[in-house]
Amino acid sequence: MDISLNKEELAFEKEVEDFLAEHLPRGHEMWTKRAEWFAALKEKGWDVINWPKEFGGPDWSPTQHYIWDKVSCKEVLPPVMPFGQVMLAPVLMKYGNKEQHERFLPDIRDNKSMWCQGYSEPGAGSDLASLKCKADLTEDGKHYIINGTKIWTTMGHVANWIFCLTRTSSDGPKQEGITFLLFDMKSPGVEVKPIFTLGGSHHVNQVFFTDVKVPVENRIGEEGKGWTYAKGLLQHERKGIAGISRCVYALDKLKEKAQRVPVGDSTLIQDQGFKKKIAVAEIELLALEFTELRSLADMVNSGSPGSQSSILKLKGTEMQQTIQELTLEAGGIYATPWGNKKFGPKFSKGGMEGYLNGRPATIYGGCSEVQKDVIAKRVLGL
Ligand SMILES: Cc1cc2nc3c(=O)[nH]c(=O)nc-3n(C[C@H](O)[C@H](O)[C@H](O)COP(=O)(O)OP(=O)(O)OC[C@H]3O[C@@H](n4cnc5c(N)ncnc54)[C@H](O)[C@@H]3O)c2cc1C
Repeated sequence: MDISLNKEELAFEKEVEDFLAEHLPRGHEMWTKRAEWFAALKEKGWDVINWPKEFGGPDWSPTQHYIWDKVSCKEVLPPVMPFGQVMLAPVLMKYGNKEQHERFLPDIRDNKSMWCQGYSEPGAGSDLASLKCKADLTEDGKHYIINGTKIWTTMGHVANWIFCLTRTSSDGPKQEGITFLLFDMKSPGVEVKPIFTLGGSHHVNQVFFTDVKVPVENRIGEEGKGWTYAKGLLQHERKGIAGISRCVYALDKLKEKAQRVPVGDSTLIQDQGFKKKIAVAEIELLALEFTELRSLADMVNSGSPGSQSSILKLKGTEMQQTIQELTLEAGGIYATPWGNKKFGPKFSKGGMEGYLNGRPATIYGGCSEVQKDVIAKRVLGL
């Protein structure tokens, strides 16, 4: 995409490049020098780039966010789980009270607390409002007692806190009577069981709650109004999953790889069939980048990505999968084996793992069909 940057924006681009060159730990140092990296980000005021200014964000323009994504996606940054900083924090800021801000936001900002998301249940995924996990208020009104289960809880086995949708009433429409609670994963009565996925990894879990006691001051907003808060959080989640800048970079890398794959007397990049697939992907990605910029502008103005985040999630995850499929195609038979194999071109390594681990992207955060429903109703007004 050709977005002409003005002088100030070019200077900002250089500032980002210089900052990464100076502070980003590379290789194994990504783990050993994590703390130094986060400290450097914080000192620069770039640690919580999506937070509003009053909570410590840098107040970037949409173009500055675009530049940051564009430059940083070419590097491997020490990972930050999105559940605290990206998903829960905006909900806390909007609907939490002052005590909750002071209690939870500093640890989220400094990556001291690790959160997981307790939304889905067996029988309540796409139809999330059907959730049954119960929260009963004690007679003295001081605690909720939680009983039920959550499933697909990403990183639930390492998280120390959970934000959880619970049912406090079954009267009226199912969207009412849902309450948004925060609680400690070490509370008595919390049990986490692993689920191993097709890609061979352990990221997700089923979590069981038996008489878990949660102080009432851990409730966000009003009892029974959790559905409103939950929907706002999903918009931030969906925007985050889209990963558009990373797709642009991955597609560029794929083109480089395809120049090294022999096909007859030529290379894969010259193959008409492959060339056409790359061209289609590039065109779709270009359109998606413009949509992302529009959404960024809306987000900077309104503080929320809005229902447009469903467009980004739908198309962004489809693009991720397209690129993973093409990477697999470029690696050919060498992309199929698992693990640290010693044969075939280096780039083919991990092709199959990447492909299989990428399959759920069109399911988590709400499956593609659900995104289409949201786009039809909330974006197109059908
Ligand atoms: C790897 C992974 C990580 C996850 N992490 C978390 C997490 O951390 N926390 C959490 O709470 N949840 C998490 N989830 C759960 C995820 O949000 C749900 O899987 C998702 O919302 C779909 O729900 P479901 O699995 O119950 O499928 P279902 O709701 O049973 O849907 C199955 C299929 O039915 C079809 N379908 C459903 N609804 C419609 C519709 N309205 N129109 C047309 N077709 C439809 C779709 O093809 C859909 O894929 C994760 C899931 C995965 C796979």
